[in-house]
Amino acid sequence: MRPVIRGASPRNDDFDDYRDAFGELVSRLGQYCSYCERRIPTNLAVEHIQPKSLPLYEDLEGRWDNFLLACVNCNSTKGSKDVVLSDTFLPDRDNTAFAFEYPPDGTIAIRSGLTPTQTHIAEATLKLTGLDKSVSEVIDSNGDLVAIDRVGQRMEVRLIAQMSRDDLDSNPTEEFRRQIARTATGHGFFSIWMNVFETDLVVRKFLIEAFNGTASDCFDLASTSFISPRPPAGLVGESKI
Ligand SMILES: [Zn+2]
Repeated sequence: MRPVIRGASPRNDDFDDYRDAFGELVSRLGQYCSYCERRIPTNLAVEHIQPKSLPLYEDLEGRWDNFLLACVNCNSTKGSKDVVLSDTFLPDRDNTAFAFEYPPDGTIAIRSGLTPTQTHIAEATLKLTGLDKSVSEVIDSNGDLVAIDRVGQRMEVRLIAQMSRDDLDSNPTEEFRRQIARTATGHGFFSIWMNVFETDLVVRKFLIEAFNGTASDCFDLASTSFISPRPPAGLVGESKI
């Protein structure tokens, strides 16, 4: 899960209509689902981290710090489940790149070596978002069945990333590395590209730059290491990993 920086609110007060935050969020974070990392050119929506449908969080309906972007599948899977910030890894607050791994088989895995508490939070996060399910089916706002094969989509993008890596062998230039990062932004799945180019620090740096809003302070740009816990930015429940 790509760690992101939403930045300070563009307004002094809460949004009267949360939908008005959409443009600013896309500008800052790119057209990607904050959870599954897919590029969503249409039907991406403002996501409330703590669901506005729960009375406990109704005050947060227009609160900038409670916004991310989500696809209809992740939004529906998450639904109105309670999100306790201290029990959930969130891409705006934690180093979610360190929490999860994306193996070649298209699945998502919890990184080994986490503390028992971190492992527990990672498990809860997967349960909340359903990212570990191979197929996710939801009914959208039009009443239509929307199904995505998460594993298949990850593998498809991984194949493209691997072909790019093979091409890099015969054209190992900085320019081509930049081009790979640009190509990646059109496909989404930042974490898969980072995994395929794990040992190429230049491509990794370009990927971090190319995907709008990526939290660069979660990565050690001089090595393949992660910076964990994530440096605090003043958000509630942050820096758990
Ligand atoms: Zn999603």
